Amino acid sequence: MKILVINCGSSSLKFQLIDSDSEECLAKGLCERIGIDGSMITYAPKSGDKEKTETPMPDHTEAIRLVLDALTNPKTGVVKNLDEIGAVGHRVVHGGEKFAESVLITDDVIKIIEECNDLAPLHNPANLIGINACRKLMPNTPMVAVFDTAFHQTMPEEAYMYGLPYEYYKKYKIRRYGFHGTSHSYVSKRAAEVLGKKYEDLKIIVCHLGNGASISAVKNGKCVDTSMGLTPLQGLIMGTRSGDIDPAIIEFIAHKENKSIDEIMNVLNKKSGVLGLSDNLSSDFRDLEAGYNNGDENAIRAMKTYCYNVAKYVGAYVAAMNGVDVICFTAGVGENGPMVRNMICEHLGYLGIKLDQELNNKRGEDIAITTPDSKTTVMVIPTNEELAIARETCRLVK
Ligand code: AMP
Repeated sequence: MKILVINCGSSSLKFQLIDSDSEECLAKGLCERIGIDGSMITYAPKSGDKEKTETPMPDHTEAIRLVLDALTNPKTGVVKNLDEIGAVGHRVVHGGEKFAESVLITDDVIKIIEECNDLAPLHNPANLIGINACRKLMPNTPMVAVFDTAFHQTMPEEAYMYGLPYEYYKKYKIRRYGFHGTSHSYVSKRAAEVLGKKYEDLKIIVCHLGNGASISAVKNGKCVDTSMGLTPLQGLIMGTRSGDIDPAIIEFIAHKENKSIDEIMNVLNKKSGVLGLSDNLSSDFRDLEAGYNNGDENAIRAMKTYCYNVAKYVGAYVAAMNGVDVICFTAGVGENGPMVRNMICEHLGYLGIKLDQELNNKRGEDIAITTPDSKTTVMVIPTNEELAIARETCRLVK
């Protein structure tokens, strides 16, 4: 079956058409600046050149219409007509406590996703716009919602509760939810598969280090803790997000800089993380690594603080699971940054980790990068959230 995977943001839309039998990506692309001047669609079929076309996209329905036109284009398309697309899988950021698994989309499901809008005001409304636009253009095609939060719903109460008045949980469901669940699930399962071990027998820590970053503890096939919280702002230091800070800092900055809560939230989301720590040098680890190697003190500070912070979380999750068998690195930085992996693992000597530097320098493979006598196995597993969404969609539609 051919499955269209849609990841819809407020002004952008990423798509992939995946053959669920061969698990091959037949075509992929991106619509940018939806509803803004200068809208652009990028379309890349599996065998063929990437095309970039500037064309008006007043709304998401028009963007999806253009995606479907590109996929069915007689010259460069990859399907003859829309009937060949068996199902659509939508990434949905927040499923609250309502969804512990992916679901077939119905009117009732849409209502429940809407009820979660408060928890992800920037993401869920955009995801819903994508779902509604697709339903309009493909009314007879089954659609599935795959939630970023679902994999983490197995966390025990002691891992997801905050030390706040319980009434906030009762009234507003304020608790840790966690994000990047599709990636944590895919990577941890794949690690077990590559090692030839049973998923249910392993204690795995997944470090998803991209522009956004989170870490999870997966014990016997179930997530037992994760670093992001009610929102994706909590946890690790990220590209531009602060991660954990003393909450009293918000009041302190508000007074000193005469800033509103919204302004401070903007600083914490967009101007902090390694970007802020490096005194605005960069949020991109390629720049930070180059700076580190050139002795730039801003890059050194950012890299060292970032890696120390990841290592501390690894320690916390070793405690949460009373041990660890496998540590996985994934996403932009985790997959491409041998230096970051080295710097993190330097803090983890107590786990008996011995990195094989030759393997650590490889790219794009699902591999263990530790020596055979390393007490804990460290792996690099490139994430593939689109494939995971396609698999879930196929499972529910079949
Ligand atoms: P993601 O959010 O998973 O797409 O990751 C994006 C981030 O990955 C970028 O901001 C970079 O910091 C990082 N990245 C991408 N390529 C490399 C690379 N070759 N070396 C180090 N970091 C990289």
